[in-house]
Amino acid sequence: MRRLFFKILLFYLLLFILIKIPVFANEVSKKFIVKVNNKIIDVNNYIVYKDGRFVAKNTSTKAISNNKFLINFDGINFYIELINDKEPFAILSVSNAICEIKHNQLIINKSSLNKTDYFYLNISLKNKIIIINSKKIILDNSQYMKIVNKNNPLASNFIPKDLVYLKGKINAEVTNSMRLKRNAAMQLGSMIKEANRNGVRDFVIRSAYRSYNDQTNIYTSYLNRFKKIYPNDYRIITAKYVQKPGMSEHQTGLAIDISSKSRNNYSSFEQTNHYKWLKQNSWKYGFIIRYPKDKTKITGISFEPWHLRYVGEPFAELLYRNNWALEEFTNHISKEKFIVFKSYQGIYYLITDNKYKLLK
Ligand SMILES: [Zn+2]
Repeated sequence: MRRLFFKILLFYLLLFILIKIPVFANEVSKKFIVKVNNKIIDVNNYIVYKDGRFVAKNTSTKAISNNKFLINFDGINFYIELINDKEPFAILSVSNAICEIKHNQLIINKSSLNKTDYFYLNISLKNKIIIINSKKIILDNSQYMKIVNKNNPLASNFIPKDLVYLKGKINAEVTNSMRLKRNAAMQLGSMIKEANRNGVRDFVIRSAYRSYNDQTNIYTSYLNRFKKIYPNDYRIITAKYVQKPGMSEHQTGLAIDISSKSRNNYSSFEQTNHYKWLKQNSWKYGFIIRYPKDKTKITGISFEPWHLRYVGEPFAELLYRNNWALEEFTNHISKEKFIVFKSYQGIYYLITDNKYKLLK
């Protein structure tokens, strides 16, 4: 009986020691290296783990908080942030990926990445490095980021999957035949509900999914109408108002033309509270104003306040915060390779081209 008691005591004593004393070394991983201006810096020289938290090691490191440090190296200031503050040891698993700061961006040497199971060390546009404890990350493909325009047309037989009817799902005037892709439809419903709560009511959906044939019919009717008025340049004029078949975003099942009951005229929609509300809030529901006023040269399409495009989260917020048109995002990401983005809900995302990953 006495022996059993001591055995139990010993067991709890061991357990206590194991929990209380970290088995980790009192330093940041030696493998963690950043390359700045072709000089290699070792983070161990700047941060050390002491008394249960990371602290600045010398005067060139300034602790902003328990998990955020400002490091000055060769006159370049940058931040290191330990995201997973519940497990500060997480930094021990940061890889030996060699990175380089160029134009305030941290560029990961991709060949060094492949050799390790761990990533992740990133920097945002604002000189901020983020270290994430994470195993090799598999990115999710976004099915909502497709660019459709005159340079990127859809095939005539392209029909989006999971189209659902809008009737009965959203609090707006719709016709029986209107459809959108399921997620876009659901988010549209939530968005209108929220607008209604904010006193913005009586939305009208004027157009949603349009098949290749629908677009052909619309295009032909415009062509015939303008032919009577402008017999010489009716084709150019038609192109200003309606996309050729295959070149309309409506064929993706991700675009809507939205308006309000009080405004029958498309162009005056800009003046409504409805537009103002959508401009400020639609990104929260994954929508963007696809053809903004200040981006006509980039999109190649005149200002369409009524045309909303679903791109989903986190892309809608990223585009909104940077004031990027879809084309600008594509250009940016093809140069920078990746972005680490913190959403308004405090969630970190790693974004590469049209792929993304939620970073926990
Ligand atoms: Zn449209």
